[in-house]
Amino acid sequence: MKWSESGLMVPTCIFEAATLKHSVIPVCSCGHSASFNPFGLWWHFQRRGWDDRLGPARQRFWCRVCHSSHRRKVHPVKLDLGRLAETDFALPWPDEREWKRAVARVR
Ligand SMILES: [Zn+2]
Repeated sequence: MKWSESGLMVPTCIFEAATLKHSVIPVCSCGHSASFNPFGLWWHFQRRGWDDRLGPARQRFWCRVCHSSHRRKVHPVKLDLGRLAETDFALPWPDEREWKRAVARVR
């Protein structure tokens, strides 16, 4: 976790994005972006043992639009954070026990 200049907490990994209730939004250089629900996303990374820090995590995403037009996996140029929304793309959520255990580890 880090602090912004205006004194807000800024998540540095997907787990923190979930605890702070931010969607994770990969943005491609083509302009396409998709908003992901952070809980399912964290769990997806956790189960695979992937690094969920926002820097390394970027390499796990690729743009669906670029892939269908060029048949190439293009990684996003950045991961933005947004407000949780009903329309977020949601991967299967962690079960509550797993989530509570993870939260207990950092507190
Ligand atoms: Zn793209």
